[in-house]
Amino acid sequence: MSLTKPGWLLWRPKKQPLDRHWDVITIGSGLGALMAAAKLAKEGLRCLVIEQHYVAGGYAHHFPRKKQGALYLFDVALHQTGRLKAGQEMYEWFRDVGIIDRIEVVDNEIVYRAVYPEHGLDICIPADADAYRALLKRHFPAESDGIDRFFEIMFAIPTELPLLRKAGKDPSINPFDAAPHAMRYMSGTLKDVFDDMVRDPLLRALLAQLWSYLGLPPGEVSAIYFALMWRSMHTGVHYIRGGGQALSNALCEVIEERGGAVKLRTMVDKIIVRDGRAAGVRTASGEEYFADTVISNASTIATFGHLLDPQHVPNSVRTQIGALPVSTSIIQAYVAISGDAAEMGLREHEIFLNRTVDQDAEWKRVQAGEFRGLSCLLANHGAVNRDACPPGKSVLEAAILANGEFWIGLPKDEYDAKKAAVTEYLIDQIASYIPDVRDRIEVIEVGTPKTMYEYSLNPNGAVYGHSCDAQNHTVFRPEQRTCVPGLYLAGAWTFPGAGFGGALTSGYVCAGLVIKDRAASIAALA
Ligand SMILES: Cc1cc2nc3c(=O)[nH]c(=O)nc-3n(C[C@H](O)[C@H](O)[C@H](O)COP(=O)(O)OP(=O)(O)OC[C@H]3O[C@@H](n4cnc5c(N)ncnc54)[C@H](O)[C@@H]3O)c2cc1C
Repeated sequence: MSLTKPGWLLWRPKKQPLDRHWDVITIGSGLGALMAAAKLAKEGLRCLVIEQHYVAGGYAHHFPRKKQGALYLFDVALHQTGRLKAGQEMYEWFRDVGIIDRIEVVDNEIVYRAVYPEHGLDICIPADADAYRALLKRHFPAESDGIDRFFEIMFAIPTELPLLRKAGKDPSINPFDAAPHAMRYMSGTLKDVFDDMVRDPLLRALLAQLWSYLGLPPGEVSAIYFALMWRSMHTGVHYIRGGGQALSNALCEVIEERGGAVKLRTMVDKIIVRDGRAAGVRTASGEEYFADTVISNASTIATFGHLLDPQHVPNSVRTQIGALPVSTSIIQAYVAISGDAAEMGLREHEIFLNRTVDQDAEWKRVQAGEFRGLSCLLANHGAVNRDACPPGKSVLEAAILANGEFWIGLPKDEYDAKKAAVTEYLIDQIASYIPDVRDRIEVIEVGTPKTMYEYSLNPNGAVYGHSCDAQNHTVFRPEQRTCVPGLYLAGAWTFPGAGFGGALTSGYVCAGLVIKDRAASIAALA
């Protein structure tokens, strides 16, 4: 394996005696927590990140496997992410927290390849949005006007949201004038958008292709959050060399360099509250660490369910959290094979192999615990991550959505049999491109919802926090500030939502609120 900047992948927490007193403690080291801590560290606060897993990053981590002297790096989560061009918000935030020069952003020329075998459609979606629009118009000339309107709305909603926030603070601004598209679809689904402008079921499926990135089909996913994700995928789309782990490591590095620390293999089991304020955390082994700012990157269900003692959680909060739906989980096979997958037909880094255009019907099958016959996402990681495997080998992934309720808590025999069956199904999907894949497999690991749960502690192995449906997106999600002063949330369970972009945004927003609140407390004392 050749690495020009080995530090990307080789970061380990400094071995250092840990103080008991910090400015900020995060519970968990997912991207939401790391981004918040990196920003707060930059502002001069000493941050302690406490993570139960043996590696930092939450889902944004990788795991290595060796076979016959070859090293394979499997990226747990990152397929691609957006808003990393100079001037776009994620790039600017990475620059602000000091990691932009520590990561290498790889630009993807295509966003994905979509295959609908039953419709004879096999199409690569270019990263350039105008080229994408023109391509769609060539395939669906009768829907040309609808395609234009769809693009207009998907681009308009994200730019209107800040205006809506302004309108919320300034009664002289009429939100329907300032943000007409966002207001029109504020409680709408993607299907509502389609119903207004496109009819062809294949075109609708193609436009909604990235629904699995949010884990809800067109009939349920929030039009607002879909537009945010869609815009981020169609204004430049990227991989980060070294994968999610490279990003997590870069954030950990800057946290440590600014006087912070990352403590792995440590479960937090209580948030300490004194005089009605967050005051620190207690670990499962009984150690206590103190800070007047605690940021929970754990699920809201854990934060308000058992990390806080019940007397600190008002009934209204318990009811609110209890009513919020939990997002989907996922089953993903991580496969290393001999040979170059690109030469065998899997050229693209992201291939959606669709078994139907009815994504809502497919979602019902996911919810019912089925896996056979589901559409599958195939990823050729080697196409974007040249460090993933040695030359002449390939690292692939095959993923389907899954309902964690059908996996977690199964007796071992039943679980093993089910996992073996789903593994065969996922290999079959790869075999539709590489018929002799079974003979080529060097390493295979399959992550089920149980795996996702064990490494993240997210209930049911949820990958996207609370579901991003029409009622629970962006501003309707639990806020970063909580019912306990000094306790904040960061990550996929809070504003604005899930994905690398959502979790990182939540962390950056969280840090901004912490800075504001600390400044207000200091001013009040003066
Ligand atoms: C298979 C898969 C593929 C994905 N693909 C993409 C993609 O291509 N693009 C994209 O944008 N997003 C993708 N995502 C989603 C994205 O990875 C997540 O939304 C995001 O990383 C979540 O970050 P988070 O901050 O919410 O923290 P999480 O990743 O959920 O991490 C939370 C961390 O907190 C720790 N923790 C929890 N409780 C405690 C406790 N009590 N004590 C100590 N530690 C605790 C956990 O161990 C965990 O490390 C994917 C996810 C998965 C699983």
